[in-house]
Amino acid sequence: MSAAHALLRQGQSVTLADLRRRGQSSWAGAGILCPLLPWNYTDAVNRLAFEGMRAWPDWAAEAARLSGRDPEYWPCGMEVRGGDIEPQALAWCRQHGLAAEGRPDGGIWLPQVAQLRNPRLTAALAGAVTALGGTILPECEISGLRQSGRTVVSALAGQVEHAADVFIWTGGAWAGQMLGQLSPVPNIRPMRGQMLLYAPGSHNLRHILYRDGFYLVPRRDGHLLAGSTVEDAGFDADTAPDALAALHRAACALLPELSGHRPILSWAGLRPGSPDNIPVIDRHPDHDNLWVSTGHFRYGVTMAPASSRLLVELMLDAPPHLDPAPYSWQAALARPGWRSAAAC
Ligand SMILES: Cc1cc2nc3c(=O)[nH]c(=O)nc-3n(C[C@H](O)[C@H](O)[C@H](O)COP(=O)(O)OP(=O)(O)OC[C@H]3O[C@@H](n4cnc5c(N)ncnc54)[C@H](O)[C@@H]3O)c2cc1C
Repeated sequence: MSAAHALLRQGQSVTLADLRRRGQSSWAGAGILCPLLPWNYTDAVNRLAFEGMRAWPDWAAEAARLSGRDPEYWPCGMEVRGGDIEPQALAWCRQHGLAAEGRPDGGIWLPQVAQLRNPRLTAALAGAVTALGGTILPECEISGLRQSGRTVVSALAGQVEHAADVFIWTGGAWAGQMLGQLSPVPNIRPMRGQMLLYAPGSHNLRHILYRDGFYLVPRRDGHLLAGSTVEDAGFDADTAPDALAALHRAACALLPELSGHRPILSWAGLRPGSPDNIPVIDRHPDHDNLWVSTGHFRYGVTMAPASSRLLVELMLDAPPHLDPAPYSWQAALARPGWRSAAAC
């Protein structure tokens, strides 16, 4: 939807087909607008993420204005607790222009980190796409492409053909699979994330709290998210009782006031996993008019404004505002395979 939005703002006409599969990541995520421990990531990740963090206030405001739906952008800050914070992390933040303060317990306070509320964000973006003249085909599965040589002529949805001059394949975790005869995007794997939700009144937290791979995210109306697992479980988008119990224990350990409260909801999403969390934003090597944008893994919401800007620049043959090489199909092929997802 961010690519559709960016193209519509360039005066292009866009139709978006979305099956809304169970596990859709953009609906399921936490909406934290920053890599967790950004100093652990490469420049290729942080370039897209930091540009996205700067762009989101305007993007969210425009989506709200166009759609009449509030995606709940909230610069609430993030507290990183725990013994694994090195003093070098503070120096890294200073060097990269990310405001940071050391805490007496050895943690770090990152006041600029903001959040969006995912289901409201996707509703607002969908409304903005429609308001700008785009067409969204809901519950529409693209099963293949009709080709003529290196040109894609139409996308097939059952018996219906959708013709266009240019196509983009943004199938998230599913972009790593064959689409009809189309070669899959290299090294993309579903990475399941399970999440818990607590009711308003169960806590007084007003900022994001992170420790040892686990986070708590309060929403503006008092709901609280606790997440998340990172699991290589194929396309299984179910939750598992043992993982939910472990998340609840971690939530109570980090915020003791949650003890005695039970989560009111749980769900799982499938992230489009990629080695080193580096997305693929490039032309498909087999087709002249087919583009791909996927593999944003843990930070697709954070990266969306920057990622879609780059995609549109490449598509319209405009000078890219940042070096596209790390996001190329070739780079994805050459990247040394999969490390443990938990290390990302
Ligand atoms: C638990 C969890 C927590 C997260 N937390 C954060 C966070 O705090 N911050 C952050 O920045 N990111 C976070 N993420 C990651 C972020 O959500 C993803 O990187 C991002 O949403 C990926 O967007 P996408 O559009 O590529 O994939 P998706 O949102 O999964 O969209 C892909 C879409 O393609 C559709 N599709 C697939 N195949 C077809 C087909 N054949 N025909 C039609 N439609 C099809 C699917 O139905 C789906 O709707 C989190 C993810 C999860 C799961």
